[in-house]
Amino acid sequence: MLVKEIERFAKKKGAELVGFTDSKRALSYLCIPWANSAVVLGLSIRHPLLATGVRYPTWEEPRQFIDVIMDAIALSIEEFLEAKGYRASAIGASNRSTDLRPLVLASGLGVEGKNHLIITPEFGPRVRFSAVVTDAKLEVEPRRIINLCRGCNICCEACPSGALNGTFNIKACENYNRQLERESGLLIKKCTLCTDVCPVGRK
Ligand code: SF4
Ligand code: SF4
Repeated sequence: MLVKEIERFAKKKGAELVGFTDSKRALSYLCIPWANSAVVLGLSIRHPLLATGVRYPTWEEPRQFIDVIMDAIALSIEEFLEAKGYRASAIGASNRSTDLRPLVLASGLGVEGKNHLIITPEFGPRVRFSAVVTDAKLEVEPRRIINLCRGCNICCEACPSGALNGTFNIKACENYNRQLERESGLLIKKCTLCTDVCPVGRK
């Protein structure tokens, strides 16, 4: 079965999470008329390749490193599908112009947490995603995962900008990040408290 073949291949290439979706709604955000399904790939920001002892000032540096790996895995799945005669197009994790959230949520790999990030049972919010859309009609069985936040409110209480009071106040979060940037002098300085404190998937 093609789904199993793709999953095996993706894991061999290094993907830690592999999901599938044929949700028309999620695919419609991409505006790719021939897309029938998508393969969604996830890799932990705590990937063993990062275990070099180097301490990073923010999550941004390991995130960029993981994105390069994710892009390569997505490209290899694109080639895998094309070799089988399907149309395919990789959407790498470094592609900031495409929002992969609808595909990730539809695949069931993760759910939206109270921190407004996608959290997965395996890694919490410490994970990056890429995807490959294809005209193959994959037999999809999305994973069903439960509400991972339940009674937890840790990220909302930890947020220094008050951005997580009920709905996500993106302006408050951005203003706080710009302030951090000015104070630290680092262009990529970002507050990542809502990622750091999440207990889900913490090993
Ligand atoms: S990044 Fe920082 S300021 Fe923004 S929502 Fe998360 S904890 Fe709050
Ligand atoms: S810290 Fe708690 S409330 Fe926030 S996203 Fe994680 S589990 Fe959900």
